Amino acid sequence: MQYVFPAPPQPRVGVAGRTEWFPVHRIYCVGQNYAAHAREMGTDPRREAPCFFTKPADAVVPNGSELPYPPATHNLHHEVELVAAIGSALRDASSQEARSAIFGYAVGLDLTRRDLQSRARQLGRPWDTSKALDRGAPITDIHPVETVGHVTAGAIWLEVNGEPRQSADVSDMIWSVPEVIAELSCLFELLAGDLIFTGTPAGVGPLEPGDRVEAGIDGVDVLRIVVV
Ligand code: MN
Repeated sequence: MQYVFPAPPQPRVGVAGRTEWFPVHRIYCVGQNYAAHAREMGTDPRREAPCFFTKPADAVVPNGSELPYPPATHNLHHEVELVAAIGSALRDASSQEARSAIFGYAVGLDLTRRDLQSRARQLGRPWDTSKALDRGAPITDIHPVETVGHVTAGAIWLEVNGEPRQSADVSDMIWSVPEVIAELSCLFELLAGDLIFTGTPAGVGPLEPGDRVEAGIDGVDVLRIVVV
């Protein structure tokens, strides 16, 4: 096949314990899946249908990277999230089918230009410029289900320069990971290679150049990023 210019590289994430890569197809994210975070964002954490948005596949950044502070914001926020990596196609799936389609789990950051998001919310406009930023999805290697099992509980936390900012438990989610994936599969045909960021707990806040971010989920991994 011939292209008019070289095709861009396939976005990819490492797989723990394997030499093969996980090829990223799409990145989906869930908004406000922890009640305390919904409240800190000024909304009512009732169990309504989850709110979804997307990031570009090439927003992934590997663990241990230096992350340039992004343009067009003065309020870049951290959001630590459990990420589910999809390993087989899904459409109109049940929770059970959704669970079976999970290839593995990772720890990710849903980086957010909060000032742009606040303005978009006020004006009733889309969130793309606040959420779909370049390098907006730092992520650890993916840990296959066959090694870590299904992640349904465990501490989820984030520290900036050693100071605790976010601390909760994965079991605090309003919508479980299989429920999130099942719901998403009614809106989009999910394919192997999709990553699903499953929402952040309370304690989101700003990052500054020079900040060292450490974020982890018990039984999964620890993500380390330096903002430069
Ligand atoms: Mn988020």
